[in-house]
Amino acid sequence: MASMPDKILIVGGGSAGWMAALHLQDAWGDKGVDICLIESPTIGTVGVGEGTTPRLREFYTRLDIPESEWMPPCNATYKCGISFPEWSTVEGYETYFHPFWSKHDEKYVQYFWDNCRQRRNGHDIPAHPDDYFLTTSLARQLRSPISKHEPGTESVYGYHFDAALMGEFLKGKATQRGVTLIQDTITDVKVNQHGDISHVQTENHDKIKADLFVDCSGFKGLLIRQAMGEKLKSTKAYMFNDSAIAIPTPIKNRGEIMSETISRAMKYGWVWHIPLSHRIGNGYVYSSDYISKEEAETEFREYLGKDAEGVNALHLRWSPGRLENHWKNNCVAIGLSQGFLEPLEALMINVLQSTIEGFTACFEHGEYTDRYREAFNSQVSQYIDVILDYLQLHYKLNSRDDTAYWRDNRDNPNMSAQLASVLDTWDRNENMDRVLRQNTDQPAYPPLSWYCMLAGMGRFPEPSKGPLRLPARHQRRAREWNEKQAKTFYPHAEYLEKLYAG
Ligand SMILES: Cc1cc2nc3c(=O)[nH]c(=O)nc-3n(C[C@H](O)[C@H](O)[C@H](O)COP(=O)(O)OP(=O)(O)OC[C@H]3O[C@@H](n4cnc5c(N)ncnc54)[C@H](O)[C@@H]3O)c2cc1C
Repeated sequence: MASMPDKILIVGGGSAGWMAALHLQDAWGDKGVDICLIESPTIGTVGVGEGTTPRLREFYTRLDIPESEWMPPCNATYKCGISFPEWSTVEGYETYFHPFWSKHDEKYVQYFWDNCRQRRNGHDIPAHPDDYFLTTSLARQLRSPISKHEPGTESVYGYHFDAALMGEFLKGKATQRGVTLIQDTITDVKVNQHGDISHVQTENHDKIKADLFVDCSGFKGLLIRQAMGEKLKSTKAYMFNDSAIAIPTPIKNRGEIMSETISRAMKYGWVWHIPLSHRIGNGYVYSSDYISKEEAETEFREYLGKDAEGVNALHLRWSPGRLENHWKNNCVAIGLSQGFLEPLEALMINVLQSTIEGFTACFEHGEYTDRYREAFNSQVSQYIDVILDYLQLHYKLNSRDDTAYWRDNRDNPNMSAQLASVLDTWDRNENMDRVLRQNTDQPAYPPLSWYCMLAGMGRFPEPSKGPLRLPARHQRRAREWNEKQAKTFYPHAEYLEKLYAG
């Protein structure tokens, strides 16, 4: 292919398919490319994936779709960060908050860096991250990231949304903007002697040809894996989770909607709580090597209590891993077809967004050839590998002793050289910035996130030196300032009500 494709066929109408469709329509729709999406009326979407990082805001902003237009129909809420209760048993570090960092934090962030360094050096001083960041106080006070006083001074934030409703919203938008929707099921995929996909065979529309195929068919990877033979590189040796159960519960008090995701450690994994405007999304992510599906459901239902009685559970299973080649011949994989690690930190939508944006950029720069295909593939894989390190660190840092699951995760000898060097550098109190910069050319998370996790889970030596007065004073000052600042932001429920009312 050495010219702009005449026709692109996107296979799959989940979040990946519709986000890809809107992005491609926006990028190339006015260049005469025919963009079609086929979704099966009988094969459903994965039905989860309701938390995001701040990256999703860029997606909607670029497409010129304001929050007032998309958030109400998707029952969406704001997300200031994520709480991690019960991952650590270190006294004083039983829970921590992963904040979204913004310019509001510039004033006091240096205190956090300094206090961590002194604490790593053995001084008995406060270095827990929770007092130093505005979004932590916003979440604690059930506030939105939107300031009451000065427009444009909002904090950085992500979203929670109903995945099914967002699918419907994106579909409406994409078709309105010119994407052609075909509702049919693919029964076969034909690959020619050059290794390119020539067409897909459908139940009711016969053959559908295209120049470029985008595989958004979910876990099975109908095109890139099943038809083109791309293999998944397993990550199971690093992180053990391969299953989840989702059970929604009702919102108890509409006047008090949380602006954070909660990721609470359980006996054999962790539970997410994602607050939407009409329900709470809950899920238990676990490893099937340690607990059966039935046992996991029993533990989860006991934990959720009465609210979950009579509510159906959605069970999901995957093979953790990622593709080596996300773009192969005339096919690019976006979403779960690329592989999936696990839902911790809600990163997959981030990955699929980066993949589709990276693909269009590489294809354009290469003048619609595959000149940058290798570079693209290694960039996407590297991006996912850094995420793998970041996610695995949660498990390496846990100090729970209640089950073999947690002990095995902590003692797991399999980790990348990069992750080992992050841990080693932290423990030796050496220069973290250097090691993090070196390891994350394309960072999914800034150094601050790594610091918050390491400090938040209490990865410090036993204090061998006395307390210092200044760090304690700095921590108090940061906490007081953040708590006061937070009061100038709208209560979350109140702001949502305004937004939803138009
Ligand atoms: C337990 C769990 C929790 C998650 N939580 C998060 C989270 O909080 N944040 C986050 O960013 N990500 C999360 N993810 C990932 C997220 O759900 C996905 O990245 C996202 O939903 C995209 O999915 P998809 O569109 O690739 O696949 P799917 O939603 O599975 O869509 C596949 C589509 O392909 C179509 N299809 C399949 N076969 C055929 C066929 N033969 N013919 C025609 N069409 C076909 C289907 O009809 C469907 O439309 C989570 C994933 C899991 C498993």
